[in-house]
Formats: sequence, structure tokens, C-alpha cells
Amino acid sequence: MATISSQSSTTVVDGVDRLSPTGISIIIVGGGIGGLMFALEAWRQGHDVRVYEKNPKLDTLGDAFGIMAPAWTTLRHFPRMKAQFEKESWDAELSLWHAEGFKLIHYGDGSWNAPGAIHPAKDVHVPWLETRPGVAHMLTSQCQRLGIQIEYGSTVVGFSETDEKAIVTIETQGQVTHAGADIVVAADGVGTKSHAHVSGQTVKATSSGYSMFRGIVPFGLIEKNLSSGIVEKFFSSQRPEFRIYVCPPDTHANIILSRGFFSYGLTYKDHKSSEKDLKESWNATVPTDVVVEKFSKLEPGLLELLRLIPENSAVDWTLRWRDPQPKWTSDGGRVVQLGDSAHAFLPTSGNGATQACEDALSLATCLRVAGKGKENIATKVHNKLRFERVSTIQKFGVMTRSSLHNIDLELAKEQPETLRNLLVMPEWIWSHDPVQYALDNYETTERHILDGTPFQNTNLPEGYTYEAWTVAGEIERGANGASAEV
Ligand SMILES: Cc1cc2nc3c(=O)[nH]c(=O)nc-3n(C[C@H](O)[C@H](O)[C@H](O)COP(=O)(O)OP(=O)(O)OC[C@H]3O[C@@H](n4cnc5c(N)ncnc54)[C@H](O)[C@@H]3O)c2cc1C
Repeated sequence: MATISSQSSTTVVDGVDRLSPTGISIIIVGGGIGGLMFALEAWRQGHDVRVYEKNPKLDTLGDAFGIMAPAWTTLRHFPRMKAQFEKESWDAELSLWHAEGFKLIHYGDGSWNAPGAIHPAKDVHVPWLETRPGVAHMLTSQCQRLGIQIEYGSTVVGFSETDEKAIVTIETQGQVTHAGADIVVAADGVGTKSHAHVSGQTVKATSSGYSMFRGIVPFGLIEKNLSSGIVEKFFSSQRPEFRIYVCPPDTHANIILSRGFFSYGLTYKDHKSSEKDLKESWNATVPTDVVVEKFSKLEPGLLELLRLIPENSAVDWTLRWRDPQPKWTSDGGRVVQLGDSAHAFLPTSGNGATQACEDALSLATCLRVAGKGKENIATKVHNKLRFERVSTIQKFGVMTRSSLHNIDLELAKEQPETLRNLLVMPEWIWSHDPVQYALDNYETTERHILDGTPFQNTNLPEGYTYEAWTVAGEIERGANGASAEV
């Protein structure tokens, strides 16, 4: 087993102990959640990093999402960021609701916070939810305090490499330049330009047949515009609430109620079919009436909340499938994809941001264990350690979505306890420590890559052997009445 010795720490900046320099230089393409988390952990582990981000400044679009404990494994090493995380997280309780407005199941805290549960984010209280703008701001501020350079307004349009280094082509205000480093990390999201270099093919995205209206409404707007009865009905709980309303056959609604904001993620069957209309953009919005009409089966009080969505702020996000891509690393090993660029998730997996952050921690650790001169092997080791886990969790999201849309509401009314396990996040997902896993398995995996020594991943459900799957295969299984299985 490899180790990271804390006595090799050399500098302390903003309360963060930085390990001794490795001399490995890294360019990160994309300052989203995965890119920034990687920038921070790579800096802490002694690598030199710089980020290129296409947006002209920090993008504060987005609503709420969950990032589970494995992503925060090293948060305790960043004391000011940890304090900000604890201040800004929404410690919500989860429950499942009938569309007509009554509670079916109360789940409460995530299983990782149950008495006796041990999760990898030591000393951190990890709730169900954070806001995406809040996390993006938190990571960016920490980068700034550590002096990590983020070049805004720089769009990376090409990736290449030689035996010694990786190179990106950057467009900044019409100027084209090139930059090189030992490693380039493509953390540029679902529209990444890196596939041509990494796998030699474009990754086809197809419509899953569903889309999601999503957004956030400040609590002040609700308080100002709704009767005290409605405010009392939805916002009287001591803790924020994360409710999932089931309204089969083809819709479900994620609702977050807190005294800071009201957030909604409304999944619906989408009949858009042309590529032009299938948008994956946080700027593609729809009128509020369209949202309310599509979800008119929800209880009337909730519809009053939805009517308050500021005009043209509801994002219409197409849920697209991509076959799992096993190859995240270029042949030469110097360009590696991370987060959504390697593996996009359906929101029902609740794991997109978590897995991007797990990637970040795993890759930074593999690079440190490998050391200067073996960076291009480290990226392949990381890929081997991560792919099967991520792909299995992607399939888990397919499974949850299908279960949510196929609930028998009459049975649910009579026997709600039959739904007790529906939204329970399995322990193999939330208890994983990506840093320790990389340390424990680096050497065997490196041998596996170099000389074929057998290696079996253990970051999967117990007793499960990974099986490759495809979107077409899952659609066919669904059409035959079978649900996805893990
Ligand atoms: C603005 C925005 C809002 C979001 N809001 C939500 C939300 O509310 N809920 C949710 O569940 N998920 C949201 N997501 C997606 C979520 O952040 C990701 O699914 C997840 O966190 C994985 O992160 P990632 O870093 O892989 O990708 P992302 O977070 O998508 O980050 C990718 C980054 O790369 C940048 N980029 C793209 N192309 C280039 C290029 N060619 N050159 C340089 N930079 C490039 C993008 O601007 C972006 O900052 C949002 C993403 C974005 C970009």
C-alpha cells in the first residue's frame, strides 16, 4: 500500500498544509465543480496547477444538488473552506410525497448520518444538499486564497500531446494561443472537446425521452407574495425539507423548501425529438406557465409556489443518455477526462457532482504516488480504479428513475412502507474513500497496467462483478418490462 506522509508537508497557506512539491505541472480545462475540486486537492498534494475556464467570470447559475461524503474526504484539510461549507449547507430531511399532497415515507437524514454509520469525510457533517452556486463560490474562493490561477474567458478548443507533455489550444477574445504541461485534465463538462484526442471518436448523446424543469426562487419572493397560510404550510419545519413527489406515469418532482430558497427539479416525459430542441444548457429557459401546466397534477399549494418562478428563469434541461465510456485517458496518458466530460449522470443517480469530486481526489492521489516522470501511468491507474464504479452508479440512476416513474399510487397509499428502500442511498456509494482507495490499490493496478497482473476493483457493491452495459440494452430491457439491475 502506498502512503502519503504528513511529515512531507512544506508550506501552510490559508491554514492548508501543502505537501512537498512533486514538480508535476497540470493544466485543468474547466472551472466547474470537478475542475476546481481537483485544482485544490492537486495543489494540496504538491502539484502545480492552473485552470482555464471559458466563462468570463464565476458562473452562478444553477440550483441545488447533493454532494455526498466521499467528495468531502479531504475537506478537513481546508479549514476555512470547511467552515464555509458548514455554514452554507442545507441540512434537509428527505421524504417521499404523493402528488396529491400527503407524505408517504419520511427518510430524514442520509444513511451516512445514522447513529453508528462511518463515512469518509472525517469531522464533517455532510447533509443531503448544497446549492450549486454556493459550492462553486466556496471552491473558487479557496482557489483564490491559495493563489491558484484561474484564467477566465479562455476557451480550450483543442488537445494534443507529445511524449513529454500535453498541450491545449486556447481561444481568448479571438486570440489563439497554446499552453503545455505534464498533464492536461479535461474537466470541461458534457460538451468536452477532448473526446477526439482521448478516444478518437465523438461520444453520441441520445435523448432519454425525459427533460427536467429546474430552478430556484428566493424565499423573500415567496414571503412577499403568498398568503401566510401557504407559507406556514410549506415552510414551518425547523429544518429544510427535501421532498420528492411521485406523480406517475411519467413525472416526478424534487422540491426543496427552506427559509433561504425554494428549489424545484421537475422531471417530465419530453416529446422533443429534434437535436436543435434537445438542449443541455443552463441558459435554455421556458415560460413559467409551461412549467405550471405540465405539473398541474401536483397539489394546489405547490402550484402556487411554482407560479412564483420568475419569468424565463426555469431551465429546461434535456436528460440525455451516453453509453459508459471506459477510456478517459489518451493513449499517451497525458490527457485525462474528469467529471461530466468522462461520465455524465442522470439526476436520479444523485451522484454527478459526487463522482466528479471522487475523480478529483483519486487523480490527485495517483499522481502523487506515481511522482514526476510517471504521470502518464498515474492517469491510467486512476482510470482503471474509477471506471467500473462510476459506470455502475450511472446504471443505478437509470434504475431509480425507472422505479420512481412506475410506482403504483394506489398501493403506495395503502402500504407506503413498500417504498421504504426506494430512496435509500446504498452504503457502498456513500462509505467510499477515494484517497485511501487510490493509496491501497495504486501499486497492484500499476502492475496490472504494465504487465497484466490480475486486478479486481472492490469499490463496487459487495459480491457484484462489473458487467458492461449500453443505453440501447437498458432501453430494450425496459421495453421488455425488466428494470435495470445492479
Ligand atoms: C453553470 C452550471 C450550473 C449547473 N447547475 C447545476 C445544478 O443546479 N444542479 C446540478 O445537479 N448540476 C448542475 N450543474 C452540473 C454539475 O455542476 C455537474 O454535473 C457536476 O458538478 C460535475 O461537474 P463537472 O466539473 O464535471 O462539470 P461542470 O460543473 O459542468 O463544469 C464544467 C466547466 O467547464 C467549463 N467549460 C466548458 N467547456 C469549456 C472549454 N472548452 N474551455 C474551458 N472551459 C470550459 C464550463 O464553463 C464549466 O465551468 C451545473 C453546471 C454548470 C456549468
